[in-house]
Amino acid sequence: MRFAELADVYARLEATKARLEMRHLLAGLLRPLKGRELEEALYLSQGLLRPEYEGVELGVADSLARRAVALASGEEEAAVGRAARLSGDLGRTAEELLGRARRLAADEPLDVRDVYAAMRAIAAAAGEGSQEQKVQRLVTLLGRASPLEAKYLVRFVLGTLRVGVREMTILDALNEAFADGSKESRLRIEAAFNLSSDLGLVAVTLAGGDVAALAKIGLEVGRPVRPMLAERETTLEAVLERMGGRAALEIKYDGLRVQAHVPRDGPVRLFSRRLEEISAQFPELGPELARAIRSPPAIVEGECVPVDLDTDEIQPFQDVSRRRGRKHDLAKVQEEIPVRLFLFDVLLADGVPVYGLDFAARRARLEQLVRPTERVHLATQRIVEDVEAAKEFLDESIAAGGEGVMAKSLKPESAYRAGARGYWWIKYKRDYTVGLADSIDGVVVGGFHGRGRRAGRFGAFLLAVYDPAKDRFESFTKVGSGFDDAALAEMPHRLERWASEEPPANVASGITPDRWFRPGLVLEVRGAELTLSPVHRAALGAVRAGAGLALRFPRFTGRYRTDKGPTDATTAHELLEMYRKQVRQAAPTADEDPGAS
Ligand code: AMP
Repeated sequence: MRFAELADVYARLEATKARLEMRHLLAGLLRPLKGRELEEALYLSQGLLRPEYEGVELGVADSLARRAVALASGEEEAAVGRAARLSGDLGRTAEELLGRARRLAADEPLDVRDVYAAMRAIAAAAGEGSQEQKVQRLVTLLGRASPLEAKYLVRFVLGTLRVGVREMTILDALNEAFADGSKESRLRIEAAFNLSSDLGLVAVTLAGGDVAALAKIGLEVGRPVRPMLAERETTLEAVLERMGGRAALEIKYDGLRVQAHVPRDGPVRLFSRRLEEISAQFPELGPELARAIRSPPAIVEGECVPVDLDTDEIQPFQDVSRRRGRKHDLAKVQEEIPVRLFLFDVLLADGVPVYGLDFAARRARLEQLVRPTERVHLATQRIVEDVEAAKEFLDESIAAGGEGVMAKSLKPESAYRAGARGYWWIKYKRDYTVGLADSIDGVVVGGFHGRGRRAGRFGAFLLAVYDPAKDRFESFTKVGSGFDDAALAEMPHRLERWASEEPPANVASGITPDRWFRPGLVLEVRGAELTLSPVHRAALGAVRAGAGLALRFPRFTGRYRTDKGPTDATTAHELLEMYRKQVRQAAPTADEDPGAS
C-alpha cells in the first residue's frame, strides 16, 4: 500500500471527531491489508513501531527533525525554526516548505513498508554518528514524500501524530473490517487485546482467520497482560453487599503495581500498570522472584512498596516513586530504599494459564507457587463474612501500613478480567484528612546502621515515650527522615554517654536496634498518623490486646529537646489521647458515614 493512502486517511481522521466515521475510515484502510503490512500500518497509525510495552523509541529530538526539514526543503535551519514556532507544528511547516520548494518529481512514491522500514532503522541507530544517520534517513524519506506525507512523517518522528485514534476505536475498526461487526465478536477481539496488549498481533490473527482464530492468542511470558482494575465503594457495608456477603479482604498496599514475568530460564521481567518495562529499576527483585517462584514459567502480580527491613514496617509511597525512572546509582538506591513485593494474583503457573479460574482457586495456586523470601511476600488476606470482621481487618491493614483494603469477589465467576474495571475487586480506602496536629517528644533508645548514602553511621533511631506508672520507656517509632548529613554526623557524639551493650531494663520494644541507648536524648518528631502496631509497645493493650501505638511516617523536626530530661518526654497516656482524637478526625469510615445503613 502506498503511504499516500495512509496520509490521506490521517488527514480525514484529523478532520472528524465522530467515532463512527473514524471507525469506517480506519476499517476501509485496514481491510485490504494482511500480514506484516497490516501490522505495520496499524502500529504507524498509533504513532508506534511496536506494541507500546516494548518501549521502542525513535530518539529524534526536535532539533534533529528541524535539520532534516531544512535539508529536504533547501531552507535555512533558522528559518525552519522560526516558521515552526509560528505554526506551532513542525509537521505543518514541513508540509508548507516542501510544497513551495522546487523539487525533482519523486520517481519512487513511498510505500507503507518503506516508511516502516526506514523508521525502524532510525529507531535502531545508536551510538557514535547515529544522529547524522537519523537525519540522513529522514531526509531521504522526506525527499520522496509529498507535502502531505511529509507532514505526517515529521509528526510521527516527533511523537505528535495526533490523528486521535484511540485503542477502542481501532478495536471497533478491526471488528468492522475483519469480523461481522457484532457485539459478540467485538468482545472477543477486545479480550484478545487485553491478554496480549498487542493490537498488531490481534489484527493479523483476525485478518488471517476469523474471530475463532483469536483463541490462539494466549499468555506469553514477556508480553504484559493489561491489568484488572478495581471499582470503589464508600462503606464496608456496601462492599460486602456487592460481594454477596462474603469476600476475601486484602491489605491495600500503597506502592507500584508490578506484573512479573518469570521464565523457566533467563531474566525475570517486570511491567508497570501502564505496561512499561521497569525491570531495570528494581534489579534486586528479578533474582529474588526467580528463587521465590517454585514452578516457572509464571506470571504473577503484586504491589511493590518500600519497607524498613529492620522493622518490616511499610514506608511512604514517595520513597518508592523516587526509584522510578532512576537510571544512575541504582545499587545505592536499592540499599537506601529497599522494597518488598506483595503478590496478590497469578495468571500463569507452571506454564498453565490460570487467569480463568475463580479467585479462591487462583489464590490457592499462588500460595503453592510462591516460596516467600525477604523481598517477595504474599499479600495479607482474610476471608470475611460480616462487617465487624471487615472493620477489624481494615484496622489491622492500616496498622500494617496499608492505605485501606481491597475486597475480592469469591463468586464462581471471579476470573481475572484483564483490562477491565469492575466490582470483582473493590477498593476501600480510609483517608485521614488531617495529619497529627501535635508534635511528639520521643526519647532515643536505639540506633540503626545506615544504608546506601548513610552507610557507616546511624541512619535511623528508635524512639520511645514514657510511662510514669510503669516507669518505663516504650518504643513507638523508628525515625530516619528529617536528619541532614550534619545532624547524622553528630548524633553518635550526642548519644555516646548513653550507649548500652545490653537492652536497657527500663526500655520496652519488640524491635531490636543495632545499638541500644539508655533513655537520655529527647527529639521532637512529627508524623502522619498514629496506628496500632504489633512491634511497638507504647500504651500496649490500651486499644487492643497485644497492640501498641506507633507513629507512621515520622520526621525529626530538627529540635533537640535538651531542655527536657527523658521523663519529661511525651507520655504513653498522652500518645493514647492523641490516637483517640485522631480517629475522630478521620474521613468518614464505615462507622461514621451518615450514608451507611
Ligand atoms: P487504585 O490505584 O486506587 O485504583 O487501586 C487499585 C490498585 O491498588 C491496583 O492497581 C494495585 O496497584 C493496588 N493494590 C494494592 N494492594 C492490592 C491488592 N491486595 N490487590 C490488588 N491491588 C492492590
